Amino acid sequence: MTHTVDVHPLVSPWGRFGLYSFFVDAPEPAIVDTGIASSPAEGMVPALEAIGRRVEDVRWILLTHGHIDHIGGAHALWELTGRRAQVVIHEADAPMLRSRRAHVEEYLAGRGRYLDDPEGEAKVTAAANAVISGEMEPTMLVKGGETLSLGGDVTVSVHSIPGHTPGSVAYVLDDRRSAFVGDAVQVHGAANGFPGYADPVAYRAGLEYLRDEIRPRHLYLGHPYRRVDGTPYGVELDAAQAEEAIDQSLTVESRVAEAACRCLEAGLQETDSPYSPFARAAEELGYTGDPTLEPSPFFTSMHGYRTRNQNS
Ligand SMILES: [Zn+2]
Ligand SMILES: [Zn+2]
Repeated sequence: MTHTVDVHPLVSPWGRFGLYSFFVDAPEPAIVDTGIASSPAEGMVPALEAIGRRVEDVRWILLTHGHIDHIGGAHALWELTGRRAQVVIHEADAPMLRSRRAHVEEYLAGRGRYLDDPEGEAKVTAAANAVISGEMEPTMLVKGGETLSLGGDVTVSVHSIPGHTPGSVAYVLDDRRSAFVGDAVQVHGAANGFPGYADPVAYRAGLEYLRDEIRPRHLYLGHPYRRVDGTPYGVELDAAQAEEAIDQSLTVESRVAEAACRCLEAGLQETDSPYSPFARAAEELGYTGDPTLEPSPFFTSMHGYRTRNQNS
């Protein structure tokens, strides 16, 4: 007799974004991703009360990756569980949970090189201070390949799908083939209208792995990512929608890769364009979004192609 568990979305707003976390109603309850510092007390506690569950009973905090909008609430949520929940993250993204400064370093090494904002470091520092509820050591590091028992016969398998970040993972509720993928399936991006990934080759491989190996019956994204017509996906995608979102993500990555490749081949040129030195790629893609708005996926991804190009 298989124990079928329910999944309840927990949505919290943040600026232009909707942040999705998920409550997995297993014998040992889990929450996937934690929003920002205020999300656990202001969003999760009342949402759990409304379905007759208590935050102090949560035993697993499963982090899909280390970005501030996913780990920001982790320390606060862990405190609300009486520090009894396991806090799980891939070892490659664990520095983002241990240290606010790691977020500033990530900014400076990637998108910050192009944003040309003298206040950039101070802004990211301030955001990390405001949005991350506390620095902490994860209680469980994963690499992918693990199976976690959530009590009874409920298991969650952990799959490494780097690309968006080096330590991005999918957590899959095995009996329902429900996949929680955080920001690893971006389609056309969220509010910025551009998909963001640190390593485009790994991002593509992760999408193919999801399509061919996981084949989710239910797919849960970290944000309301958008289709080609700009309409956002809902909080839970069925099997057909999951396939469409993964296919569209692959198609978009191909287009962006071709434009980035031609731009790099032509040689990067510093210009007055806000997309400089990748103005040629933005023009070819018809991208007119503001590339400076955090988390600046345009520059994150372009820097990813540039790094891959230099290493190949
Ligand atoms: Zn992210
Ligand atoms: Zn995110």
